Amino acid sequence: MTTCTHLDTIEYADVPDSVAGCEDCLEIGGSWVHLRRCTSCGRIGCCDNSPNRHATAHAMATSHPIVRSIEPDEAWFWCYMDEVAFLFGDSGGDAR
Ligand SMILES: [Zn+2]
Ligand SMILES: [Zn+2]
Ligand SMILES: [Zn+2]
Repeated sequence: MTTCTHLDTIEYADVPDSVAGCEDCLEIGGSWVHLRRCTSCGRIGCCDNSPNRHATAHAMATSHPIVRSIEPDEAWFWCYMDEVAFLFGDSGGDAR
C-alpha cells in the first residue's frame, strides 16, 4: 500500500466553520461542484469535476501536496505527489 510521505506538511487538517466557496471561482464568477482545502495554506479550491479545477491548479502552482475534501460527509485527504487517498487524525488512522 502506498503511503503519503508529506503528512508533516499538513497545517490545516480541519474543516472551516463556514466556507463561502472556491476562492478562485468567487473571484471570477465561476461555479464549482465540490470543494477541497489545501492542507498547507488552507486555501479553498474546487474539485476536478468542477469546470476550473482550482484545487488541482493550486497544488500544481504551489507544490502544496495535499488537499482534503470539505464536503460534509467526506473526510478523505488526497496527496497529489504520491497520488494516494488516506484518512488523517480524527477521521481515522493515527498518522501523527
Ligand atoms: Zn504525499
Ligand atoms: Zn474554483
Ligand atoms: Zn496551498
